[in-house]
Amino acid sequence: MEEKEIWSEIPPIFWSDLLNSPFNKCIQCSRNLLEPGVIYLIEKALKGFGSEKPLQTIFEYAICLACAESMRMTLSVESRANIEEFYRKNIDFKLRKESLTDKPKEEWLKECLIKKTSLDESGECQIYGLCNGEYFSYQDFPYMISAKALDEVVDLISAKTMDELEDFKNNLTSGPPELKELFEKGGVRVLI
Ligand SMILES: [Zn+2]
Repeated sequence: MEEKEIWSEIPPIFWSDLLNSPFNKCIQCSRNLLEPGVIYLIEKALKGFGSEKPLQTIFEYAICLACAESMRMTLSVESRANIEEFYRKNIDFKLRKESLTDKPKEEWLKECLIKKTSLDESGECQIYGLCNGEYFSYQDFPYMISAKALDEVVDLISAKTMDELEDFKNNLTSGPPELKELFEKGGVRVLI
């Protein structure tokens, strides 16, 4: 596949609301994300997404792949296996990509990745995207997961893992005060 088909401009829904521009710093190691070749993930928790209600960002961050991977490795082996099994059973990324490739880009976030349905009127969900510097990927990412489906995933994670995720969250909230505020409002489920 041609490079230009894989990478696009970062859509504004994946910009940082705090910056009102694309994310520029890894939340963990602070490296500059907009340099070419830096691969990173964006996660935002939203309310009112795709509904009549005003769109609200509950929390948002971008994390470089190296930091995301070391974060993932803090989860217990059992939790990682449970999560992987859940994804394997519920999602066919290859099929999804084939069916979305010729459609408008908004379609990628229209249905919950797990439930395969539109959001209810609350529009509560998390969206995930993958970037390389200033470019945005359309392959396995981006996707949207409804708050309901996230609750189901969290049920698969052991109590021990929840503690580990809580530590991660506390780490993140030692960052900018605006972010801390968002986390406190959010009741956040971090990284699945
Ligand atoms: Zn990092």
